[in-house]
Amino acid sequence: MKPLVEVLLSTTAYFKSRGIPSARLDAELLIGHALGLDRVQVYLAHDRPLLEAELEPIRVLVRRRGNREPLAWIVGKREFYGRDFRVGPGVLVPRPDTETLIEALLPLVPAEGDLYVADVGSGSGCIGLTLAAERPNLRLYAIDKAEAPLAFTRENVDALGLKERVAVLRGSLLAPVPAARPIDWVVSNPPYIPTADLAGLEPEVRDQEPRLALDGGADGLDVYRALLAEAGERARVGVALEVGAGQAGAVRAMVAAAGFLEVSVHADLGGIERVVMGRRAK
Ligand code: GLN
Repeated sequence: MKPLVEVLLSTTAYFKSRGIPSARLDAELLIGHALGLDRVQVYLAHDRPLLEAELEPIRVLVRRRGNREPLAWIVGKREFYGRDFRVGPGVLVPRPDTETLIEALLPLVPAEGDLYVADVGSGSGCIGLTLAAERPNLRLYAIDKAEAPLAFTRENVDALGLKERVAVLRGSLLAPVPAARPIDWVVSNPPYIPTADLAGLEPEVRDQEPRLALDGGADGLDVYRALLAEAGERARVGVALEVGAGQAGAVRAMVAAAGFLEVSVHADLGGIERVVMGRRAK
């Protein structure tokens, strides 16, 4: 038996030695997860002696995090715009920056009347399913190229009770939506990291999160080109796209060239231009 605080301190030191920036916080969250305690309860339980039977599951989680597996994968969820999304190996973890897209788009989305949204590269589903949860009149096509992320999209559709209004589709860009089906808005957080920059990312992202969700080709803009070619034909109202740092200018021009003439750019909480939106001029 060992007091919890001792395990907490040794885990923190181990995480630091593995280069994890938020070592103490991660140690608290993982120990808490293994014991079924939140952070406050972990704090209040510092003196609690941990039995060997409690230590073993903690060690398993700590080893995974020591290998720089994303914390959200290990605890199996991440909060996004006030809701929990299930995540795990094979799917990009929702980022707070992506909430910028929700905040920029929601004021333009009426709460009544039929409305069809396509989320391209749905991953966990955090963008499209948040929109569907916020707007009960909205119908969603959640599209991804890969099966692993789509499994999480489906889990989150069920967990959020959105089954009736969401079609989960596998394929490239808008191709899985039959030509006769309407699309009003196309939303996406496409892969936008220039291939050469991937090597410089944190190990969680570089070595673990899916390359398909990150690699945007030589200049990071490959998927915007392909997606806007299709969205320009099919989106009746507009597009809302997350972009990487420094890409807003280029994507803004591409959005306008695709026929969305009312274009706006929205910064995230860090002041980085993070979202480009375009609407057809009335
Ligand atoms: N925001 C992700 C990152 O940090 C990139 C996601 C993407 O390429 N769309 O690294």
